[in-house]
Amino acid sequence: MRIIEKSKKLDNVCYDIRGPVMDEAERMEALGEKILKLNIGNPAPFGFEAPDEIIRKMESCLTSTEGYSTSKGLLSAREAIARYCKEEKGIEGVTVNDIYTGNGVSELITMSMQGLLDKGDEILVPSPDYPLWTASVTLAGGTAVHYVCDESSDWQPDIDDIKKKITPNTKGIVVINPNNPTGALYSKDILQKIADLATENGMIIFADEIYDRLVMDGEKHISIATLAPDTLTITYNGLSKSHLIAGYRCGWMTLCGSKKNVKSYIEGLNLLSSMRLCSNVPAQSVIATALSATEETKNLIVPGGRVYEQRELIYNEINSIPGLSAVKPKAAFYIFPKIDTKMFNIKDDEQFVLDLLKDKKILLTHGGGFHWEQPDHFRIVYLPEKEQLKKAVDKLRDFLSYYKQ
Ligand code: PLP
Repeated sequence: MRIIEKSKKLDNVCYDIRGPVMDEAERMEALGEKILKLNIGNPAPFGFEAPDEIIRKMESCLTSTEGYSTSKGLLSAREAIARYCKEEKGIEGVTVNDIYTGNGVSELITMSMQGLLDKGDEILVPSPDYPLWTASVTLAGGTAVHYVCDESSDWQPDIDDIKKKITPNTKGIVVINPNNPTGALYSKDILQKIADLATENGMIIFADEIYDRLVMDGEKHISIATLAPDTLTITYNGLSKSHLIAGYRCGWMTLCGSKKNVKSYIEGLNLLSSMRLCSNVPAQSVIATALSATEETKNLIVPGGRVYEQRELIYNEINSIPGLSAVKPKAAFYIFPKIDTKMFNIKDDEQFVLDLLKDKKILLTHGGGFHWEQPDHFRIVYLPEKEQLKKAVDKLRDFLSYYKQ
């Protein structure tokens, strides 16, 4: 067969979560090795289960959801999302026509960038980021311009850095709050400053809020859409994280705020949404139930709850290992520790994660995978039960007692 190469569109698409570390993990698994995967935020393998009422609802809807839905999604699902926006998040004016369901937030991120960007267009994306955002901007032909989130300010976005990076080509800004990979929750003051900058500069806000229910320490999540009535905000949410059912592949995006100058973009989104017909309909059928089932998640994030207790453990343990330090995550289920590169002579963070994998059979993600430029961070997913998590941290502690790159 003649040589067939991948599309040139993919040439600069950087999705570092793949690469030599994953290749090695797959090779080791094929040889029968057991690897502890702390590299992906997938709750189910760690014993988190969907609430019973969601399973029952899905079962009861299977026969009535055999056909396509309208491309934006079932009306009952969109009505429930509109209610959630208003009653739980305080976002005014969202109608069912402003809501699009997708096969996960992932599909909707890609769709929103495909519908918006041409060569030369820029989108501000946080560093560190959830890397699909940068990859989707690039795949759509745009340029991701990274603004820094500041570790010394609990990983809040650096407003001065954002200001410096706005150009006439900037079409939008991505705000991931609560944040993956840092676990940060943004303050109202920071969100208001971002909202004002977006409004002043005619930028769309892309607000990825998929972890909005996993907020600890009695803090409250604020949707940036409530602070930016005069510009378009697209808010993303879904079943994967706050509802612990990532495998159902169901997310949604909500358009709100001013639609004055974005008519053509919305037409583009409608076109792309109908081109893929619709999202998974049985999964849409549980959205209303999931949005009203708040107890399960609440119980996880208070003292005594799994996510809360695992957060305490990982935070205390990481900060007790010489050469590591971490800001306490307030939300989601990730921690993004800093590693003293001088102490371990680390020049390459991916190599560090690869060496740990080979030696201790623990899979983490290097900071570079999240478009963090220095080789001095890595991310841990702290979803395993405390006992398993403690064993993993003990192995990391042991590894760092002799590791030199
Ligand atoms: N956005 C963020 C910030 C994420 O961390 C993830 C998954 O890890 C996603 C979106 C993707 O979500 P979904 O499973 O709905 O595609």
